[in-house]
Amino acid sequence: MANGIKCKCRRCMCRGLMGPAVLITIGAIFLIDRTPWGYGFGHLWPILLVVIGLVKLAEALASTEGHTGPGGSSGGGSGGGS
Ligand SMILES: [Zn+2]
Repeated sequence: MANGIKCKCRRCMCRGLMGPAVLITIGAIFLIDRTPWGYGFGHLWPILLVVIGLVKLAEALASTEGHTGPGGSSGGGSGGGS
């Protein structure tokens, strides 16, 4: 997965949030599952899809300015513009 990526751009940071966000969501769902509120994993699992979607969306919208790792067009150099 993360092969020692030290890139500090926002997109890579959002990508790094995916794992913890999924774990936290699953933990919260199981926590709610143990409450007597009547909501179980069967009711709440779509939240996981929403969270994954939100992280993916944030990743897609985040800027890659300062990206230094592989898997992206290297910015900078002769480009012109602002
Ligand atoms: Zn990056």
